Amino acid sequence: MYLEEIFGLSGKTAVVTGAGRGIGQVIALGLAKAGAEIVIISRSGAEETVRMITEAGGSAYDLRADVTKEEEVDAAVAEILKRSGKIDILFNNAGICIHKDTLEASIEEWRSVIDTNLTGEYIMARAVGRTMIEKGIRGSIVNMASMSGTIVNIPQWQASYNASKAGVIHLTKSLAAEWIGYGIRVNSLSPGYIATPMSADVPQDLKDAWEPLMPMHRMGEPEELIPAILYMVSPAAGYTTGTDIIVDGGYTCI
Ligand code: NDP
Repeated sequence: MYLEEIFGLSGKTAVVTGAGRGIGQVIALGLAKAGAEIVIISRSGAEETVRMITEAGGSAYDLRADVTKEEEVDAAVAEILKRSGKIDILFNNAGICIHKDTLEASIEEWRSVIDTNLTGEYIMARAVGRTMIEKGIRGSIVNMASMSGTIVNIPQWQASYNASKAGVIHLTKSLAAEWIGYGIRVNSLSPGYIATPMSADVPQDLKDAWEPLMPMHRMGEPEELIPAILYMVSPAAGYTTGTDIIVDGGYTCI
């Protein structure tokens, strides 16, 4: 009863971007189990996630939009307002990573990472924040950052990704301060290495190089991120805004 009171999301509508697979899929299912109606935004659809949530007794639908394209995001948000009436929660999860030395990466590659990870989260937060303000919703936004926003990963070089995630952490603080008067809380999550399709594409020799650097000598599971996000989006975090929660198995502390 007490846990339901402070962590329950019944009656809330939560938008999760990039939840067709990976971390977003697992978090969407977690938020649905806590009672939220889930709306997924991705480019290629999220039928499997919708099915998983429905089979678990939850409620979900998915919409297609590229988070880097403002007109597509605006159309998706308008559709959500038509179908659900409001948005209470945004988990800004969609992101990409390119491992390349700075002197070899093209400017197009730099732009695509910054566009997706930083500008995409800005476009989504702005569109959703606007509806929260217009409707007087005291909502919660969680932006997906990364430990890469705080430290420089080795041995792979990924300057665009690291810079995008550092940007996300400070965008989060900026929006938290700007919207505090509306009762909208904005926080970020910074995971360490997590086992998902994004990390599955990484060559084995690179994963072998990461192993001794991880204090727990293993990658995290997406499920291990659910409680931190659930905290940030729930009534339990009423006094928490502008913060970055690092869930990295101790990677950044040594
Ligand atoms: P995945 O590659 O498994 O999933 C990313 C999702 O983002 C995809 O479903 C993709 O769907 C969606 N996406 C990508 N670009 C866009 C776009 N322009 N518009 C809409 N959706 C988009 O990644 P992870 O689950 O591993 O990562 C999720 C988030 O977590 C990312 O922000 C990542 O940076 C962050 N993170 C991941 C870590 C890890 O170790 N895995 C560690 C720390 C942070 P579609 O192609 O259908 O659009």
